[in-house]
Amino acid sequence: MENKNAWLKYDDVKDVFDFTENYRHYISICKTERECVDEAISLAKEKGYEDLKDVMASKKKLSAGDKVYAVHMNKTLALFHIGEEAMEKGMNILGAHIDSPRIDIKQNPLYEDNELVLLDTHYYGGIKKYQWVTLPLAMHGVIIKKDGTRVKVVIGEDENDPVVGISDLLIHLSADQMSKTAAKVVEGEDLNVLVGSIPSKTAEKEQSKEAILSLLKEKYNIEEEDFRCAELEIVPAGKARDYGLDRSMIMGYGHDDRVCAYTSLRALLDSVTPKRTSVCLLTDKEEVGSIGATGASSKFFENAVAEIMELMQETGELKLRRCLFNSKMLSSDVSAGYDPNYPSVNEMKNTAFLGKGLCFNKYLGSRGKGGSNDANPEYLRDVFNAMEKENVSFQTCELGKVDQGGGGTIAYISAQYGMEVVDAGVAVQNMHAPWEVVSKVDVYEAYLGYKAFVKNM
Ligand code: MN
Ligand code: MN
Repeated sequence: MENKNAWLKYDDVKDVFDFTENYRHYISICKTERECVDEAISLAKEKGYEDLKDVMASKKKLSAGDKVYAVHMNKTLALFHIGEEAMEKGMNILGAHIDSPRIDIKQNPLYEDNELVLLDTHYYGGIKKYQWVTLPLAMHGVIIKKDGTRVKVVIGEDENDPVVGISDLLIHLSADQMSKTAAKVVEGEDLNVLVGSIPSKTAEKEQSKEAILSLLKEKYNIEEEDFRCAELEIVPAGKARDYGLDRSMIMGYGHDDRVCAYTSLRALLDSVTPKRTSVCLLTDKEEVGSIGATGASSKFFENAVAEIMELMQETGELKLRRCLFNSKMLSSDVSAGYDPNYPSVNEMKNTAFLGKGLCFNKYLGSRGKGGSNDANPEYLRDVFNAMEKENVSFQTCELGKVDQGGGGTIAYISAQYGMEVVDAGVAVQNMHAPWEVVSKVDVYEAYLGYKAFVKNM
């Protein structure tokens, strides 16, 4: 039952390093769900994918080999590589999420405190707040102007850009703070982002705030009122980096779950015309419960499948139900990688390790598997056979030892259709911290594993 280290499989690691260099670039430029969708669409177009809306407008029919994508609200994306079998027989679906924990700007954020100008925030997803202070942070997002134009914002990524940040108290005055529990050391309402400090000479009051407002107007054509119709995310500034003296790992923001999103996407884009229609589904809002029009609970995906079946002349509600019912899915999300600094949270036989390949979690949940999708062993056998056929390194694991904590993914949502689903993903250290760590060989094995799934299931 011992899992071998995947690095040992390779005489030449060039393919691993080449693939992961592209991934490193992807997560360096994709720090919001919108950016992930835009970049995914541009990669898909290079491979001949067409927008479903355009296909519908052209009245063209779809058949085996066709490639089409459906995008919703610029934040969720489903890509379909049409297979040879009827859709009714089901699809092979690679699902992952593209939202990551971060700090969002409030709708009325800008204020001045003793000539320092700050932005008020509301954090998104599960974070240890104390990890987000004293770091260079960048601002990404969109602002919708009164005339409807969408202004894209990326400040803090170019090396000539300024960065912003959240302060922490100096150790010299931290007697009270240091006696608090970690949950209270930095509180949510104190995650305020410092953005300026030069007062305006002409403004009558709030001179520093006025100065920042003039700068926003001049440089970005943003008015204070525009913050109301904005989606601005504060994220760690800078590129993902090779990690370790041997460059075997990548430290980056948002591996959870863009590492599974990118590898799933590339697996689909690199597939040849499959027997069963193959799908990559990239969802939003997983970190806050998969809710909303762009989360996995939305009817977006089901509707997209219905539209595609219509274009394949497989019409009707019943055929759609059968298609979803007969589908097979990898719900791909990151696993908790073993950390030698914190061994006590694990039961070692069932722990994910960096470097041991694609992680399969039969179940997650908490306490007595509460809230979990518990995958069927019949299905696991088929999936593992598909992996073994392509010599993919993989491991089975669960999230920490019993009663230590817990977590969830999008698996249970797709499972509601009656389809087979299992959680699969890449082991991560520092999960949900500003800078997370993955092993390059695991990223590559995930890509190979997703390709094996699409091809052999
Ligand atoms: Mn995740
Ligand atoms: Mn997460």
